[in-house]
Amino acid sequence: MKAGRGTPHGGVYLDIASRRSAEYIRKRLPSMYHQFRELAEVDITAEAMEVGPTCHYVMGGVEVDPDTEAARVPGLFAAGEVAGGMHGSNRLGGNSLSDLLVFGRRAGLAAAEHALTRIGRVELPDEALADAARAALAPFDHEGGENPYTVQHDLQQTMHDLVGIIRTAPEMEQALERIAALKERVANLSVEGHRQYNPGWHLALDLPHMLVVSECIARAALEREESRGGHTRDDFPATDDEWSRTNLICSRAPDGSVALTRQPLPGCRPSSPRSSSRERACEFRGAERRRERRAPARRKRERARELRRGRA
Ligand SMILES: Cc1cc2nc3c(=O)[nH]c(=O)nc-3n(C[C@H](O)[C@H](O)[C@H](O)COP(=O)(O)OP(=O)(O)OC[C@H]3O[C@@H](n4cnc5c(N)ncnc54)[C@H](O)[C@@H]3O)c2cc1C
Repeated sequence: MKAGRGTPHGGVYLDIASRRSAEYIRKRLPSMYHQFRELAEVDITAEAMEVGPTCHYVMGGVEVDPDTEAARVPGLFAAGEVAGGMHGSNRLGGNSLSDLLVFGRRAGLAAAEHALTRIGRVELPDEALADAARAALAPFDHEGGENPYTVQHDLQQTMHDLVGIIRTAPEMEQALERIAALKERVANLSVEGHRQYNPGWHLALDLPHMLVVSECIARAALEREESRGGHTRDDFPATDDEWSRTNLICSRAPDGSVALTRQPLPGCRPSSPRSSSRERACEFRGAERRRERRAPARRKRERARELRRGRA
């Protein structure tokens, strides 16, 4: 597609019509057949369908403790797609929903415990609250500023074109320059209408955060000079074992910019009566492996015992 060999809409043609019978397609892919027919007026049993890449899942996210889902910010808990680390670089199909159940429960329990044990309320200076309110309402006061939807569209295009499925360093460097330019444009957004049910205003509030997340993704992908899971570097196509032991952590530097640090992955620690579930999982896997290694000798001993019993 980047080489200009894509479809007019920037996708590729997927042709199953020439490979499978119409009956097979209707039987095995009923919803796909139905959707293409109803929404695009394309009969996939007779012609090729136009498809394109899109974002399916975000593998990175808020850094959390695996047992409690607590983030570094006291009182903040994150579970589900917003939390990072659970799936490594490649989520297996279908397990996001079980992740939500397991880690949502842990987060709920830990958040309840936190709420029960903390004393007093967080005190915020009035001036900080007034500043936050002024910043949130600023897009109503700017006249002639930019439409948030235009900036969102440009951010989407930048991330799609330059930090997409297959990435290279020059592309991501260009993306970071464009993100910096978008940050300046976000400072001058205008929204119309009222505060009630105003999606344009909500987008204006979300955009600064979307830019931070996009910058984190681009910076981390630029730093990771290898290919792994959903991260493919055209300029570093091999998987590098060194990177399998390293996480990249983005945080806010004092000047407001995104700081990137490398952090070793937590390993399996020795057992203790107060082992966490992660440690217990490591121990369990270790014990299983030892059992597997000893299995042939054990079977031999059991067989010999059976034979002795039989003779007796
Ligand atoms: C096309 C597609 C197919 C998928 N198929 C599968 C599948 O078959 N199996 C599977 O396991 N996973 C699948 N997934 C992944 C799975 O659906 C998601 O990972 C999962 O739904 C994420 O759940 P979540 O609760 O973490 O986040 P979300 O479902 O994204 O929930 C976040 C919620 O927060 C709300 N929100 C956002 N901002 C604010 C704000 N400022 N204030 C208040 N609320 C806010 C949003 O409106 C949303 O309701 C699929 C994903 C896609 C895109």
